[in-house]
Amino acid sequence: MSELVVKSKSAMGPKVGFVSLGCAKALTDSELILTRLNAEGYQTSKTFHDADLVIVNTCGFIDDAVKESLDTIGEALAVNGKVIVTGCLGAKGGDGGENLVRQMHPSVLAVTGPQATQQVMDAVHAAFPKPHEGCNHRCTFCIIPSMRGDLVSRPIGDVLREAQALLEGGVKELLVISQDTSAYGVDVQYRTGFWNGKPVKTRLLELAQALGDMAQPYGAWVRLHYVYPYPSVDAVLPLMASGKVLPYLDVPFQHSHPDVLKRMKRPASGEKNLERIQRWRETCPEIIVRSTFIAGFPGETEEEFAHLLDFVREAQIDRAGCFAYSPVSGAVANDIGGMLPAEVREERRVRFMAVAEAVSTAKLKRRVGATMQVLVDSAPSMGKKGGTGRSYADAPEIDGVVKLLPPEKISKTLKMGEFTRAKIVATQGHDLVALPI
Ligand code: SF4
Repeated sequence: MSELVVKSKSAMGPKVGFVSLGCAKALTDSELILTRLNAEGYQTSKTFHDADLVIVNTCGFIDDAVKESLDTIGEALAVNGKVIVTGCLGAKGGDGGENLVRQMHPSVLAVTGPQATQQVMDAVHAAFPKPHEGCNHRCTFCIIPSMRGDLVSRPIGDVLREAQALLEGGVKELLVISQDTSAYGVDVQYRTGFWNGKPVKTRLLELAQALGDMAQPYGAWVRLHYVYPYPSVDAVLPLMASGKVLPYLDVPFQHSHPDVLKRMKRPASGEKNLERIQRWRETCPEIIVRSTFIAGFPGETEEEFAHLLDFVREAQIDRAGCFAYSPVSGAVANDIGGMLPAEVREERRVRFMAVAEAVSTAKLKRRVGATMQVLVDSAPSMGKKGGTGRSYADAPEIDGVVKLLPPEKISKTLKMGEFTRAKIVATQGHDLVALPI
């Protein structure tokens, strides 16, 4: 199952808090559960408070460990309320043979013993069904399709209705998220749906157009994520140039060399990506291209890696993330052969990031002196001491931010969730520093 999701910033996949107590064996269990959660589209939370539910992997070896585990469960229940317990203590009996954890904390959602990944996942699914995002591709390094199945497009009327409700609720930024947003509607042959009594095709272009029209009266932003560089995406660029949707595309290229892309079985691997980006920039000079890459994929030669570095420079990728290749259990890429030593993979990642950061910061510096529209994310004391926000070039949580200085005008205030104009006065790493005007 899969879907195209239109979400507000705060409404991405359910968040799971995780506490791992105990020995190395327990840690392995924790890693297995976290890998499954991640592959199924759940997010993790660092605090009990921000999580939708908490998993506590317990230890029952000595009295101190039992106490620590029971105390942690109690704390998670008090702060969050939804708690799943796993690990050795979960298998321990209490007085009268009843399960000890249940005896001490009857309100926990589920209790399992150690090595019970599937039971823990069943309990998580029961509390928060897994996010419905799948994928039609079969990239060799990825296990998402085997866990979540093929892409299933949500009816366009449902997506637009959800977007309308978010805008009416005051949301100022709509993020379009899926495993492959450019493939929206492929599974239903781009069938015609209905919105406000009017026919509208289940397709990226029509969706972006409708969202742009809908967001305009609210002054809200529409941002597209996970779009592959198919020729059909070119048609969306005029919407960006005209300001209907943000001139921002999140395109996970992963590599540039055709042979590596083939080994990865990447979508659109036969496309001429560099030329495509150059054409996008001609149609919409303001466009920001964000991407992620993998360094040190099995069999990657130094020449193929150098091709990737050249691509980042020539394509002027505005925002880039990079992972050193790391085998995922169950992925086809593990059998390709040519696995590079971990030091080489890491060394290439570091070299990649140095090039990508040089490109990115040089582009940021060119913004100094410009005036930009900034969506305020935080502004204590009405912004009298400044705050933080984001421009169209910054997606929440993955890109940089705009650090807002205290306004010079006494009457000027900043409010979370509202827009301000700001003059860019400096850069700080990946961030901009700006004076609200
Ligand atoms: S496009 Fe590839 S990497 Fe992305 S979810 Fe699909 S199979 Fe995985």
